[in-house]
Amino acid sequence: MLYIVATPIGNLKDISFRAIEVLKSVDLIACEDTRHTRILLDHYGIKAPTTSYFQHNKITKGEYIIQVLKAGKSVALVSDAGTPGILDPGYNIINLAIKNNIGLTFIPGPAAFVNALVLSGKPAHKFIFEGFLPRGPLARKNHLKKMMALDYTVIFYESCHRILKTLEDIQDVLGDKEIVCARELTKKFEEVKRGSAKDIMEELKAQKPRGEFVIVI
Ligand code: SAM
Repeated sequence: MLYIVATPIGNLKDISFRAIEVLKSVDLIACEDTRHTRILLDHYGIKAPTTSYFQHNKITKGEYIIQVLKAGKSVALVSDAGTPGILDPGYNIINLAIKNNIGLTFIPGPAAFVNALVLSGKPAHKFIFEGFLPRGPLARKNHLKKMMALDYTVIFYESCHRILKTLEDIQDVLGDKEIVCARELTKKFEEVKRGSAKDIMEELKAQKPRGEFVIVI
């Protein structure tokens, strides 16, 4: 059985009893980054062996993991944070498991976009999750324009390196419309800013943007 296990997006307490039970019982834990996941495993006294499974070894390591599963062993898949498969190579191994008729189940838990959507106070009955926006400014603005033509709440991820540029593009496309910018969700310095992209940009500039961001429009 392949267990897809959601792990915390910041606060180590955001993990289910079942997730801990599964991580303690499996033969192997496939981690996006073994050093990163080690912090969580040590915190909960989880001793199962780990192996790395990430963007650049997903083909060879994916085949290895399938062999382990076919030999009758159990494997848990975790990502650096949140739900495996949401913008990480989890998607590939899940598909490979399906093609190989391997049983799979999902132990639910956090995903950053859900936290941000709930905290945003924006309509949550109809939303689009966009992952990361295109990197080039023109492509990003065109994409934003397309999204704004839809009658949905739109959510996307952004890093601290690009947040100011992205907010600038949002301001160009949306003008003073209120948006929500959530940072460091579930962590000590969790912050949810509401206002025009320009206002949020000014505030962030003043404190030099740090951490991870989710934007809700
Ligand atoms: N699998 C993850 C999930 O379930 O949300 C997403 C992985 S994606 C590669 C990483 C991005 O998620 C970050 O760049 C950031 O935009 C967002 N993210 C992850 N943790 C976050 C947090 N604690 N606060 C705000 N955004 C976060």
